[in-house]
Amino acid sequence: MTTSANFPCEGGCVCGAVGYRLLEDPLELHVCHCTSCQAVSGSAFVMCMPVHMRGLELLQGEPRLFSFESPGGGAKRDRRCANCGSCVWGEITPEIVALQAGTLDDKGWLKPIAHIFVSRAQPWVEIPEDVLVYQTQPKDNLELVRAWKGRNDK
Ligand SMILES: [Zn+2]
Ligand SMILES: [Zn+2]
Repeated sequence: MTTSANFPCEGGCVCGAVGYRLLEDPLELHVCHCTSCQAVSGSAFVMCMPVHMRGLELLQGEPRLFSFESPGGGAKRDRRCANCGSCVWGEITPEIVALQAGTLDDKGWLKPIAHIFVSRAQPWVEIPEDVLVYQTQPKDNLELVRAWKGRNDK
């Protein structure tokens, strides 16, 4: 299965006020089943795509900062469209943001490399066999980065 993307690729919020361009391959892509991700998305899980800030270009709009404490997840800093509330990315470090992969226009190439917090996954969720699986958080996030790069280099 080819899961390669053509960069740059674009995305944005649901109302169209916020648009961005991703210039380079993300660091990795994983699914998080933690209870905070379920609550914040109102869904069963979140697709989380860490990218370098320098590889992300804001095309339009100004995503508003929402910062809050998440029980078990620590401080969260999410950037959301001020008009429709879509979360476009969360700030992890000053250099790295977690792009919400569902906001990309083309989602055909998105094949997560890992599933984390599977101990909290809803019971009907089936975890694919060819991914890294973590009951909670990976001790070393670089495992995911290496696995993502390794698969895409094949
Ligand atoms: Zn919007
Ligand atoms: Zn989570």
